[in-house]
Amino acid sequence: MVDYGTHRSFWFTELPDLASSPALSGKQRADVVVIGGGFAGLATAINLRQLAPSIRVTLLEAEHIGFGASGRNSGYVWPRVTTYGYLKHLFGLSRTREVYSYAARSCRYVEELISEFSLDSEYRKPGAICAAIEPRYAAEMRAQLSFLRDLGGVRELREMTRHEVRAEIDSPMLHEGFFDPDIGYIQPAKHARGLKRVALGLGVVIHEMSPAIGISCGPHRVEITTPGGQLVADRIVLATNAYTNSLIGLNELGVRRHQYPGYVHCEITDVLSERSWQVSGWRAACGLITAGPITHFMHRTSDSRIHWGCDVYFDIPRPAQMGPEYLPDYSKIMGQHLDQYFPALAPVRPVHQWGGPVALTPDGLPHLGFVKSERVLLAAGCNGNGVAMAHLNGRTAAELLLGKQTEATTAWFVKRRPWRWPGRLSGLPESRSPDKVSAVFRKTPPCHLRHALPPAIFAPTRLVAAGCTPSIGTLRTTK
Ligand SMILES: Cc1cc2nc3c(=O)[nH]c(=O)nc-3n(C[C@H](O)[C@H](O)[C@H](O)COP(=O)(O)OP(=O)(O)OC[C@H]3O[C@@H](n4cnc5c(N)ncnc54)[C@H](O)[C@@H]3O)c2cc1C
Repeated sequence: MVDYGTHRSFWFTELPDLASSPALSGKQRADVVVIGGGFAGLATAINLRQLAPSIRVTLLEAEHIGFGASGRNSGYVWPRVTTYGYLKHLFGLSRTREVYSYAARSCRYVEELISEFSLDSEYRKPGAICAAIEPRYAAEMRAQLSFLRDLGGVRELREMTRHEVRAEIDSPMLHEGFFDPDIGYIQPAKHARGLKRVALGLGVVIHEMSPAIGISCGPHRVEITTPGGQLVADRIVLATNAYTNSLIGLNELGVRRHQYPGYVHCEITDVLSERSWQVSGWRAACGLITAGPITHFMHRTSDSRIHWGCDVYFDIPRPAQMGPEYLPDYSKIMGQHLDQYFPALAPVRPVHQWGGPVALTPDGLPHLGFVKSERVLLAAGCNGNGVAMAHLNGRTAAELLLGKQTEATTAWFVKRRPWRWPGRLSGLPESRSPDKVSAVFRKTPPCHLRHALPPAIFAPTRLVAAGCTPSIGTLRTTK
């Protein structure tokens, strides 16, 4: 039986046990080997078989399908990649629009996959209210709204007064905001298992409990070693996301310092009765994203729980190692935060707390292209926003491997020369102390405190200092 771990994913604990696919044994051959069984790896494998059914595709997963971020995330299907203001600052509006359009397409692609393969992913799209938690953040919110409208796209964002916000979610914390109808939610572990079924049905060979512990890339072939076997392939796809640093032979593969792991932490309540929802004041089916010194993300699961996370329940391990998977200190403050939003429910205590690794890239864009040689393709680094995008990245990766010229493969950020994190990672923000975060949130932060508040987590401090505007659907303080 697979051990899903107390502080890994809540979502797997809801599902029946599933026998793992057999681990790799002996010496095998494939045309393409995909390493990593998250959304990116599964989508790559699925698309390869759809586009070129004669290609032999094998997927290796170190643990079980959905073990990484893909089985642990909060399930927001949204057109995000990093803070769009950060991208605009780096690359200008026109290129940022192109990224946004790709991200919006990735949401539609997830919907298409769910519908085409009848995936039981509990997908729903009630949208989200984005609301300021103090009046003085309302101006930033309006600026954000106008910036989002400027990006173009298909969204019909609706401005909301405080009264309108509270008619939907009656929390004393909330002020004015806007409604974003384009945010959907999935149950990520169910979705990952659904993709596994699709991949197997299309003839992908899957080996779980099969970590690639050696990758040797020669001029004519690639050899991958696992504890139980060996695979020889023409090409490989690294869909290892935040775990990429753990691969042996980073230099030879050409992926050193392409990404840095960060850990996102979140929580979930027990099932709430209809009466509790009424008492709480949360009437709408939509989710909630707040704007203030810190940003909370909350939504109602399909079985009526509150699931929430925050941009500061976040940890960047130094040096760039994996883990710890969960920081107990966060649990002290996360419940308190929820109580402040919904005092009528207090004290609401979570039934499960967990964390998971995301891959942070220096320019906020995913890496999607060949590294060192045309035999190795990297598809990783959605900066904690890959629920939708990792799927489209998988499709783009398959198209790249097959040499196709498509709108996606010719997008300016695909096959770009990757930026690398500096050796000493001097630009990265330090991990935050939970006590400090709590103190900030407890009180209305006076203006002078804003400079001590967390900068945009997914962007290096120096760029926040350069005055970038905040992310889509999210407002963060900028210095
Ligand atoms: C708590 C949390 C909440 C999040 N919430 C959201 C959200 O609401 N919306 C959103 O858009 N994004 C969210 N994200 C980010 C999103 O989940 C990721 O961007 C996305 O799932 C990345 O998919 P992936 O396939 O690239 O990586 P992963 O899912 O991490 O997959 C990588 C896989 O590679 C495997 N692997 C690694 N090394 C090896 C090896 N040597 N051999 C074999 N296998 C290996 C790992 O075991 C893992 O299964 C969240 C992330 C976390 C952690």
